[in-house]
Amino acid sequence: MKSALKFVVEAECGTTKARVSSMTLPHSCVSTPVFMPVGTAATLKGVLPEQLKALSCQIMLSNTYHLGTRPGADIVSDAGGVHNFMQWDRSVLTDSGGFQMVSLSKLSKVDENGVLFQSPYASRKLEPADDKLPDVEMSNVDDLIADNNLNSKDFLLMTPEESINIQTKLGADIMMQLDDVVHVLTTGPRVEEAMWRSIRWLDRCIAAHKNTEKQNLFAIIQGGLQPDLRKICCAEMTKRDLPGFAIGGLSGGEEKSDFWKIVSFCTDHLPKNKPRYCMGVGYATDLVVCVALGVDMFDCVFPTRTARFGTALVKSGGCLKLSQQQYQLDFAPIDDDCNCYTCKNYTRSYLHEVACQESCASTLISIHNVAFQLNLMESMRNAIRSGTFPQFVCNFMALQYPTEDYPQWAVDALSSVGVNLKGV
Ligand SMILES: [Zn+2]
Repeated sequence: MKSALKFVVEAECGTTKARVSSMTLPHSCVSTPVFMPVGTAATLKGVLPEQLKALSCQIMLSNTYHLGTRPGADIVSDAGGVHNFMQWDRSVLTDSGGFQMVSLSKLSKVDENGVLFQSPYASRKLEPADDKLPDVEMSNVDDLIADNNLNSKDFLLMTPEESINIQTKLGADIMMQLDDVVHVLTTGPRVEEAMWRSIRWLDRCIAAHKNTEKQNLFAIIQGGLQPDLRKICCAEMTKRDLPGFAIGGLSGGEEKSDFWKIVSFCTDHLPKNKPRYCMGVGYATDLVVCVALGVDMFDCVFPTRTARFGTALVKSGGCLKLSQQQYQLDFAPIDDDCNCYTCKNYTRSYLHEVACQESCASTLISIHNVAFQLNLMESMRNAIRSGTFPQFVCNFMALQYPTEDYPQWAVDALSSVGVNLKGV
């Protein structure tokens, strides 16, 4: 397949699987490992594109589901694509829309054709009581529509072809395949069915993807927590010679001891010369561990979501809950070493006053939290380049966990790639 992406590995850690690469996309050149802030409806909540640019952000994520339902892909296309529409001239990655459908719609059904789900703007919505939620995979939407006199027009069908059609209109630099999403804790034959279906849907996405000179299609590796299924999925999907591969179906409440093993297994079975994207990962510890395991790309709503609740991310101890009384007379910035707009201009005392009260607080703390993520990634890239990444990991973890109460999964994961946090 033709590719609108050039990926060059520039430096590799001599101990772990970490590497630094340049990923050239139609709208910008992205240095990896990279964290991609998540804009939902054509905006990062509370942060303007120019503020993101001031943080040297080169790529952000936009939700196909939100843009595709409101304002709709045709309006975004008429506006000249998502870059023009939201005044962001750097790179954009759009998801397939499938995950949002299944997670936001309480009524959805998956079969070979695609995902049928209740529109968020349905004229009359059936909202099953939480304790009676139909299992997403098992719900019989047809019967529910008939039994409850619902309007079948209020149900939308997302197919692999439609997902690519919408994402083509949005015009993102990277598009994600529609995959069959099952909850990570699902067991039994459904996990294998979803894995094989995701491969078949990938082929339908590839067939529907015509704009190969300007847009890149990434595959999503599925297979739950089972290495045998992940291995088959990696082998099958990498045969398709796509420009990049994502590790999907994690960060859904699984044990961290399972999470890191699957991530590490997948990076071992994905091509070295292609970007590897671990979806939905954004906690600092997880980022550092996953970079050590060989992941290149990350996204998560966590930094901006937690900012809206008044929490600022910091190296020392992990976070500051700015609404707490102890910050009322604290005239230091969130982080002395941070050079973001918020840290250069505002004190913890001011942020304490406005946190959770004024919308400017969301903006100011979000700017810092995105800066924190981007700075962390840059520090890791610098450490990998200078051959000091293992030492960086130990120093960073010691700051995050001042009493050295490291989570056991992180100790085990890092030890698997030759970094011993406890010096043994
Ligand atoms: Zn800052």
